[in-house]
Amino acid sequence: MANLRFKALEMIQNRPAMAPVSHPNRVSEMFGENVFTQEVMKQYLTKDVFKALQSAIDHGTTVGRDIAESVANGMKAWAIEKGSTHYTHWFQPLTGLTAEKHDAFLKMEGSKAVEAFSGDNLVQQEPDASSLPSGGIRNTFEARGYTAWDPSSPAFIFETPYGKTLCIPTIFVSYTGESLDYKAPLLKTIEVLNKAAVDVCHLFDRSVKRVTPTLGIEQEYFLIDRAWSDLRPDLTMCGRAVIGAPPARGQQLEDHYFGSIPDRVFACMKEFEIECFRVGIPLTTRHNEVAPGQFECAPIFEELNVAVDHNLLLMDLLDRVARKHNFRVLLHEKPFAFINGSGKHNNWSIATDAGKNLLSPGNAPKDNLQFLTFFINIIKALHVHADLMRAVIASAANDHRLGANEAPPAIISAFIGTQLSKILDELERPSRKKNADMPKNYVRLGIPKVPEILLDNTDRNRTSPFAFTGNKFEFRAVGSSANSAGPMIVLNAIVANQLIEFKKTVDRKVLRGKKKETAILEVLKDYVKESKAIRFEGNGYSREWEEEAARRGLSNIKQTPRALDAYVSQQSLDLFANLGIFKHHELHARHEIRVEQYVKKIEIEARIMEEMLTNQVIPAAISFQNVVLSNINAMKGVGLEGHAFEAQMHIVRNIADEMEKAHTNVHKLQGMLRTTDEIPVGRDKAIYIGDNIVPLMAEIRLSADALECLIADDHWPLPKYREMLFSK
Ligand code: ADP
Ligand code: MG
Repeated sequence: MANLRFKALEMIQNRPAMAPVSHPNRVSEMFGENVFTQEVMKQYLTKDVFKALQSAIDHGTTVGRDIAESVANGMKAWAIEKGSTHYTHWFQPLTGLTAEKHDAFLKMEGSKAVEAFSGDNLVQQEPDASSLPSGGIRNTFEARGYTAWDPSSPAFIFETPYGKTLCIPTIFVSYTGESLDYKAPLLKTIEVLNKAAVDVCHLFDRSVKRVTPTLGIEQEYFLIDRAWSDLRPDLTMCGRAVIGAPPARGQQLEDHYFGSIPDRVFACMKEFEIECFRVGIPLTTRHNEVAPGQFECAPIFEELNVAVDHNLLLMDLLDRVARKHNFRVLLHEKPFAFINGSGKHNNWSIATDAGKNLLSPGNAPKDNLQFLTFFINIIKALHVHADLMRAVIASAANDHRLGANEAPPAIISAFIGTQLSKILDELERPSRKKNADMPKNYVRLGIPKVPEILLDNTDRNRTSPFAFTGNKFEFRAVGSSANSAGPMIVLNAIVANQLIEFKKTVDRKVLRGKKKETAILEVLKDYVKESKAIRFEGNGYSREWEEEAARRGLSNIKQTPRALDAYVSQQSLDLFANLGIFKHHELHARHEIRVEQYVKKIEIEARIMEEMLTNQVIPAAISFQNVVLSNINAMKGVGLEGHAFEAQMHIVRNIADEMEKAHTNVHKLQGMLRTTDEIPVGRDKAIYIGDNIVPLMAEIRLSADALECLIADDHWPLPKYREMLFSK
């Protein structure tokens, strides 16, 4: 077996970087060439159709049937000219991945084949797709599932060497209207947030017509040679090394971060970027991350809905291009224990139709009050719904990362920086000292200053799960493999709900005769007081923070099955129902799916671990033990005494001890897996698994890793950390 490892090493040592694909030098010449952009639309649609479509997109209204017919015609002409033979409704089921079912542009006229694509084909499809998770919704109701066109995310052509397919971003709903995907509720929250934020903007500026959330997603990932992953059942099947001893050199030298990018990786990144540009993803940043073998990319931020679609597309492209370059990309949150895991930082803000970022403090006091209004409402929303924010990022994979010593803790808190902390403190308890920055009007009103806010962008705290970084919030706890729509649905919803609440309270005060600014400041002051516990500026990785957070009454739920409870708390059910996003049973369905995913993921990992221990680790240990035993026998044969082979005896005994532990625990694991088979899928099962199987797997790993260190290198069948992470 070890033979294969050495063969892989030899092969990898001889792998050259792939020859670059031909492409224009300038990004601008390839950017969006496979996208049905506004410019393309202008060419392929009549003026009236183009205008009607744009207006529907801008106002979030439905596109009429005849307009759809004309758009379909234009889209078909464009896609066929570009060489597409098929189209697909591209959607985001609750698996967390994307789904597609291709149909040819084909209609039969008698025995003659003609290219066809109608308005109906564009607007709606019934892919059936009954095997996708629905959390029971489709069992109890009409089973049919429909996809429906989302015109606010541009259609694009997905190109492989074997063919081109027109992809139409769509939502996925049941016959009775329940959402079965991530996009439908996301679009709803974007609308709800728009309305709530516009209402609040009108307190300051009547000209605002629309407010849109923006999102920039930083994506972390590991790249390892494909030969390594092919030799490991765990990496092949679940993208995580369930065993593997830590290497002597991990990331402690901190020499990988921002280091120079190896040629083979660079070639892969470059091609991946070209693919991204061609489908209109504005990728700008690439660099080495902290862990060896870990990298990051980030696009320029876009409207949230499009940013989410682009991130999903990006993950798909990354996977494909990596394979072509003989790499395997690992998007798992923690592929390798003992070294950093991967996240997907969601940089979120809100902007007006005039392009003003509402989380960017201005110079005028009035602007600052508007900034503080949005800022404080977001902090307040986070405080009220912290457990829901924890729930939405919970997964079996993210459990390995959250709370580990390099990732945001499982405690939700917000970092806002020294300066804003001072301002909020001042708002809460105005100091008696006269301050020169104090704008006169606010002084006269007897309310605290709203000083010019010049933010220091270097004021960063990498240990916070939710950090304000100058003009946006960065939700850092999101896992690297997640569909960002999940957390963004929650963030949009809690902020919208909070803004509605705020507006109501201010209006009430104004009705009772308060001046508007006074009313606003009074409410903000209350919010600052009420939400103080969620603000934390210190080291989120520290033990002290866990103790401090407990004193503050903040939750610290380390495992997914319990963290998910907040998804269906009365508060969350009410929140989503009141905003018209999820009916109670829809949220319960989503909860059920998340619980089920947890159960399945861990069961698969446990079975793989069982298999690897039984079929690879223990046999390798026995075979090496036999070598040592024959050596002892040979020494005895030439008449040597016991002390001459003391070292050998020691090795044999150590191996026997670890093997015994491993074997007993694997046996225990098998028993537990049988027990779980008896428990119906649900919260109890997930809790049983989290409380019993997860810790047992950690113990088995210790024995496997100890054996890896005891056994001669040429007897060990599995690629080791140093090989996977350092040889490219
Ligand atoms: P880092 O957090 O690593 O320092 P940057 O500050 O460059 O990185 O930003 C990270 C991401 O945040 C990028 O995708 C960037 O486009 C995005 N971003 C910047 N401004 C906004 C904004 N107003 N809304 C949403 N995302 C933004
Ligand atoms: Mg960042």
